[in-house]
This record gives sequence, structure tokens and C-alpha cells, in this order.
Amino acid sequence: MARVNKNYGLLKENYLFSDIAKKVKKYCTENPTNTIIRMGIGDVTLPLPLVAVKAMQDASIEMGDKKTFKGYGDEQGYGFLQKAIQDYYIKTSNVSIDLDEIFISDGAKSDIGNFSELFSNDNEIVIPDPVYPVYIDSNIMLGRKIKLINGNKENSFLPLPSEDLKGDVIYLCSPNNPTGSVYSYEQLKIWVDYALNNNSVILFDSAYEAFISDNSLPRSIFQIENARKCCVEFCSLSKTAGFTGTRCGYTIVPKELIVEGIKLNNMWRRRQTTKYNGTSYIVQRGAEAIFSEEGIMQCKKNIDYYRTNAKIISDTLDEIGIWYTGGINSPYIWLECGRDSWDFFDFLLEKTNVVGTPGSGFGKCGEGFFRLTAFNSYENTCIAMERIKKIFQ
Ligand code: PLP
Repeated sequence: MARVNKNYGLLKENYLFSDIAKKVKKYCTENPTNTIIRMGIGDVTLPLPLVAVKAMQDASIEMGDKKTFKGYGDEQGYGFLQKAIQDYYIKTSNVSIDLDEIFISDGAKSDIGNFSELFSNDNEIVIPDPVYPVYIDSNIMLGRKIKLINGNKENSFLPLPSEDLKGDVIYLCSPNNPTGSVYSYEQLKIWVDYALNNNSVILFDSAYEAFISDNSLPRSIFQIENARKCCVEFCSLSKTAGFTGTRCGYTIVPKELIVEGIKLNNMWRRRQTTKYNGTSYIVQRGAEAIFSEEGIMQCKKNIDYYRTNAKIISDTLDEIGIWYTGGINSPYIWLECGRDSWDFFDFLLEKTNVVGTPGSGFGKCGEGFFRLTAFNSYENTCIAMERIKKIFQ
């Protein structure tokens, strides 16, 4: 008799954004003439940088020619893309990574979800709250014991290890989704020292590193001394380069990272070669172009566009006196709504036709808070903020 993984029964019934989509759909059906402005889901709206489009067009032509056609790709991704990422790390963070420590994937979400397979079920998993729901859900699916550590106004939503914390695998996300807060060098050093002293592993999600505009903040965990002995880093081109629909990410697993005498780099390669057949050649060529000088400039232009939106949102909140974090080194603005966050969602939808994300969807510490994203158009962001100003003033 087949039996299912009962841990799935412990998950919330729906993924957060499915719940939001359902509510918005119902509202639109009941109010067909109202213009909704979506500032909820963290998806980009600007098209791909032209360098990537051109590189993918060229790669498609190569795939249609017998002389240049490619079948299955290299195990960890093509060398040309690994080299481009290696150079990017040197340029942006002054961090050296070996090519065989870089694993190309179809995005950070799958790597983050899949990486937990490398750890046994008796690990204590530490996850900050509020946070990107994938860390918690993927560990619930595996029946893991999870310890949440609280983010709040007092610690600027950047929790640090307490003296009695017992954690074997620790998830950190900086710049953080949903709060937009970013760990400093000193704070990340506290985490790295904790991991080294406790033989723990930090799984560091830097999906939003390209949004960091303050040069005094770290973009990679490997900017912290000795992080190579205890950290893995996940990154993505989704928000950096508008690849949410194109799909490309990468994971850095240093060879010095050894757990119970086993190199996680070898384990991850073994896992990936067994269960993953690589990101398409065409997409990897597009990603390579993103890391060229021209590509980085075109991405920066798009990110600056979102930054302007974030500034419009934060200026509005300043004007009406609502507390918030984020928005400067992140596309997310995390505001204090001072009431049940789903109530606030309904209120904002009905009164302003603006869709955001209730903070409680990111964890219990998110209750009383609300996330807006800077990913809509400039025009829509301005209209949304005018509407919000009107009801709050
Ligand atoms: N990590 C964080 C913190 C995210 O917010 C997201 C997407 O929203 C991802 C990872 C997933 O990125 P990808 O599109 O590369 O799967």
C-alpha cells in the first residue's frame, strides 16, 4: 500500500500568494470597473536587459545549427557562466571563488528547497521570523524540527543568535524578504562565529544583493572571514536581471565546508547530477551576458527604476507618519500597519485598490506589518501612493 508523506499535512493549505490572488480575483469580479494596483507579489515588471535578449537570440540560432547544437550541458553549468560569476564576485565583493564551487541552476528557490536534503532529519533548523516562506515549508515537508528566531522593531528585523540558541542549520536572508533589512558586516560576523563555534551551517540567501546601494553593507556572506568553512550562498538573477520567468540562479558551496568529514560540495554535486539536468544553454548564455560590463549597467538602470519607486513609497510613509523598514537596499518596504495584517490587506484593497502582502504570511512576527513592493511601474506607484495618502491624511 502506498503511503504519502504526512508532513505535507502540516503545511498551511495554500501558498501565501495563491490566497492573495484568490482574494483579489474575487474583489475584481465584484468590482469590475476598479483599477487594481498590484504591489503584493515580488515579481519584476521591466523587460529583460537587451544584452540578455541578444545573447539568447544568438544562442537559439546556435541550437538550430548542426555544427553548434548542444545536447545535455556541463554538470554544474557551463564554464563560461561560472567564469562570469567568478569575475562578478571579485568585482562586486572582492571575494574569490573557485569555478567548481559554483553550481548553476534554474533559480534560487529550487536550490534552497533541495539543499535541505543534504542534512539528516535530526538537525535543529533555525529560521528567522518573518522570512521568505520557502525555508520553513521545505523543512516542514521533510519533517524537520524548526526553531524560529524573532525579528521585530527592537532588533530592526535582524535577529542575532542568543546565548542559548541551539542551531545546526541556519537560514539567513539579507537583504531580507519581506522586511528589506540588511545585516551589517559586524552582525554577519556574529552569525559566522556562532556557526564555527557550534559546527553549524549557514544557508545564506542573497537573492537581493544587487539592490544594496550602501557600500558599507556586505553583499555576500563570503565577505566575512572564515565564512567559507561554514556557509553556502544562494543567489538568483530573478530580481537582479528580471529573470523571474527566464529562470537562472547559482549556489556557491565552498570546498572548505566539511560536515562530519564530508564535503558538502561533493554531496551537492552528487545530488544535482542525479536529480537535475541543468539550466538550458540558451538561458546560460543570457545569464553570461548579464555579468558583462554592459549587462551590469543595463541591470543597474532597471534596479534604479525600482529604487525610485521605493523612494516614492518611503517618502509617502514618512509624510503620513507610518513606521517602516527597507526600501533603500531592497525592493521591499515593510510597514507597520498596527492591526491584523489581513484586515489591513482588505482595508487597503477596498479603500485604495492597492494590493500588498499581509505580514503574517511571512511568520507570526510579521503580524501587525505589511509588505509593499517597488516592482510596479513608476506611474502606478505614484497613483497608489496618492490613494494611500488620501485615506491616511
Ligand atoms: N530567495 C528570496 C529571498 C526570494 O524572495 C526569492 C523570490 O522571490 C527567491 C529566493 C527565489 O528566486 P528564484 O526566482 O531564483 O527562484
